[in-house]
Amino acid sequence: MKLQTYEKLLHSKYRLSLMLFLFLNMATSLFFMLPINKGENLSFSLPATLIVLISLFLLSVCILKPKKKLPILSLTALIMGGLWSWLILHKNALVFYFDGSFLLVSLMAVFFISAVSLNEHLLAFCLHITPPSLTVMMLDRGQHPLTLLFTIMLPLLGFTLQSLMQRRSDHFIRRLLFQLYEEKQTWSDLSMIDPLTGLYNRRGLKNRLENILENHAGSHFVMLLDIDNFKAYNDNYGHAMGDQALARVSAAIRDAVRSRDVVTRYGGEEFLVLMTNVNASIAMKLAERIRQHVLDLEIPHRFNHRVSTHVTISAGIAPIIEEDFEQAVANADRALYVAKNRGRNTILSWDALCEANLLSAPSELI
Ligand code: GH3
Ligand code: MG
Ligand code: MG
Repeated sequence: MKLQTYEKLLHSKYRLSLMLFLFLNMATSLFFMLPINKGENLSFSLPATLIVLISLFLLSVCILKPKKKLPILSLTALIMGGLWSWLILHKNALVFYFDGSFLLVSLMAVFFISAVSLNEHLLAFCLHITPPSLTVMMLDRGQHPLTLLFTIMLPLLGFTLQSLMQRRSDHFIRRLLFQLYEEKQTWSDLSMIDPLTGLYNRRGLKNRLENILENHAGSHFVMLLDIDNFKAYNDNYGHAMGDQALARVSAAIRDAVRSRDVVTRYGGEEFLVLMTNVNASIAMKLAERIRQHVLDLEIPHRFNHRVSTHVTISAGIAPIIEEDFEQAVANADRALYVAKNRGRNTILSWDALCEANLLSAPSELI
């Protein structure tokens, strides 16, 4: 699960709260249009009509444009609160007998709407209930102070506490998700790195390759490198020393190329360098630089008892034609094979191999 998914969830929760809030406002104000006494007509009033119309309009926007972000809950709550205040004033004037119950019922209705739909939005909750609460207190003229205090303060206190708890839990979930996402990213990065050399492994190469082929239209080259006589090195110096040599050679390869080139440990002592946006001559220069860097390490390599030399590397280069990476690797591999046959510590490009018409000596390519 991504953070965006969580954000989407929050957005949809917000949207639902807004829709529920609008619906309850609309339904309650329609209820307030019903006649007070039996036999009377429906009592339309401007504030009640406005509540219905505004609710209907915003509800339609929410339904027709579900992806649209409408950060208007608090503002809508304030406007609705104001209209409710107006409606209570208006309706109270029509109630010819006053027993206080109308005010209490009105207040309860407003609190009910807020409680059900705005329980996670403390600000909107307060903005919605404040105007009607003040109006009711004003109209009551201090006759039922305790009842009103209880009716207003109890839900307000309850929702403040509930909202604080909710905010803490939201914060916790967000932090947890963020941490999980970061860890997932770290694991995913690690799974693309070869632990001995710190270079990309094949999975890392695949990942970068997809990206490069998608986003870079230029010409790219593949270079396959293989340490010369490495089996003999291991036999002479032991596997642990072999590992050290491998790590040093890897670092030399990495240092010799540009940062945008993708260096991969392709197999045991084989490497693949993906050179992006290069031409044949630059690719060749980079390969030559790698060969020289590795030689300059001067890692002693006594591969038989008579000859003493240093660790060297051979490479084959081939262009990626029509995004056919596999074919480029196969061509580079053939060039590498010929380079090995030519005595090692050698670079050879597939193009040069073809141009020099070495194909006429097919035994070299077999
Ligand atoms: P060539 O010049 O033809 O490439 O000869 P080579 O001896 O390098 O070729 P070969 O493929 O026969 O041997 C590769 C050796 O590389 C064999 C294996 O022991 C060694 N090797 C492969 N991976 C590792 C590794 O992770 N650590 C060490 N120390 N040695 C490795
Ligand atoms: Mg090999
Ligand atoms: Mg080798």
